[in-house]
Amino acid sequence: MYYVSRQCYWGVEPEDASVVEIAFGGRDYAKPDMLVPRWSDLGEGQEFEDPREVAKSAIAIWQKWVQEEPMAKIGYGYTFSPFEPSDIAEVLRWSEVEYSKLDKCTRCYSILPDNPYAYHYGGVTSEYEYCSENCAERGYEEEVKYQATFGIDSSSEPESVY
Ligand SMILES: [Zn+2]
Repeated sequence: MYYVSRQCYWGVEPEDASVVEIAFGGRDYAKPDMLVPRWSDLGEGQEFEDPREVAKSAIAIWQKWVQEEPMAKIGYGYTFSPFEPSDIAEVLRWSEVEYSKLDKCTRCYSILPDNPYAYHYGGVTSEYEYCSENCAERGYEEEVKYQATFGIDSSSEPESVY
C-alpha cells in the first residue's frame, strides 16, 4: 500500500522542503508535514495498491506543483527514513522494480492482498494464492477438472524417496 501527499518538510534546507511524497505502507506512514490535498483528482491524499499507479499519480501532481514551486521534488520511503528525492525516470524505474517484487494472483496476475485467498482440495490447502474469492473458486474448479481428467489420486501416490 502506498500513499501520496504533498509535504513541506520542517527543519530542512528550503530546496529540500517541498516534496511529493510516496509513503510505503499507506497513509499512516506519511510524514506529518502534509499539505491540504489540492489535486485529489490526480490521487493526492489517496492510497494505492499498485506502485506503478502511485508513481503516475506522484508525477502528475509534481508536474502541476512544480509550476509554482520550482524546487518541488518527488520522494519515496518510510516514515522513519529520509524520503529520497528522485527524478521522474528514477520514480518510474522504482515503481517497475517494486511491482515485480509483489506477489501476484495465480489466476489473474493482479497484486495479492495481505491475506490472500486459497482453496481446499482433499483436505489440503492449495499452495496457490489468489486475489479474491472468485479467483480462488476458479482455481478450485480447474483443480477439480484437472483431477477428473488425469485421475491422479494423490493419496495413493508413493512419496518420492531419495
Ligand atoms: Zn485474481
